[in-house]
Amino acid sequence: MSALRDLEIGAMMWMVRDTVARIKSLGVHCGQLGVAGDVTLDSATAQAWKDELKKQDFTLVTCFAGYNGESYADIPTVQRTVGFIPPETRAEREARTLELSDFAAALGVKSIACHIGFVPADETHPDYVAVKAMVRRVCDHAARNGQTFALETGQEPAETLLHFFKDAGRPNLGINFDPANMILYGTGDPIEALGVLAGHVISVHAKDGDWPPKDVPGALGTERPLGQGAVGMERFVAKLKEIGYKGPMNIEREIEDMEQRYADMAMGVKLLEKLRA
Ligand code: MG
Repeated sequence: MSALRDLEIGAMMWMVRDTVARIKSLGVHCGQLGVAGDVTLDSATAQAWKDELKKQDFTLVTCFAGYNGESYADIPTVQRTVGFIPPETRAEREARTLELSDFAAALGVKSIACHIGFVPADETHPDYVAVKAMVRRVCDHAARNGQTFALETGQEPAETLLHFFKDAGRPNLGINFDPANMILYGTGDPIEALGVLAGHVISVHAKDGDWPPKDVPGALGTERPLGQGAVGMERFVAKLKEIGYKGPMNIEREIEDMEQRYADMAMGVKLLEKLRA
């Protein structure tokens, strides 16, 4: 596979929804692969992906887990349904995360990641305690596969995540920093947050968005094409350079309209090329 440059431009793609060839046509040759909870992860699927990645000379840096039953409709729904936090789906999602780790290992991917959900600030909260133990078990499994495990940012303030991160205390635990999520969930200024989490960021999303409307309680902000939201991509890329981050910047765009999504991502590639120069 071709070597990646510092701050290589990549894309966050999804299994089934995207093909490597389509993503590559945006002008990138690395990225992260999201895998929804209902996708079958057998050895034939792993072999097909491995062959395709080789054929396209495309490097996957992370496999991302999505889970059955998750909904990002609004903040209360995210709290109730996303990641490791809901107790009733915890065992099933842990098993799925380990399965994804093994699938990623078969593809030669060195990192897995997911949204673990809203971590409570109170470290004695039963959800905090249970999720910390779960994160440790996932880390230990990933370590046996030679992988890091990255927590996606956004749903709690940087200080809360950092405290949880240090408390979980696993050497292969990292952070996937998403600047737009900090804005969409109204949790804080993403550039400040990046400074707080700096030493632990092992992968990033390049995503943009606007703050939630003040008059609708529980509403999420709106995702925007790169450069058109409140993140300030110039500030973001400058801060990545300042903290010494050298991994890829994975453009993420989550709208339903696929052609618009690809057009926005291609525009994002051009913007980042300018900013990383
Ligand atoms: Mg993201």
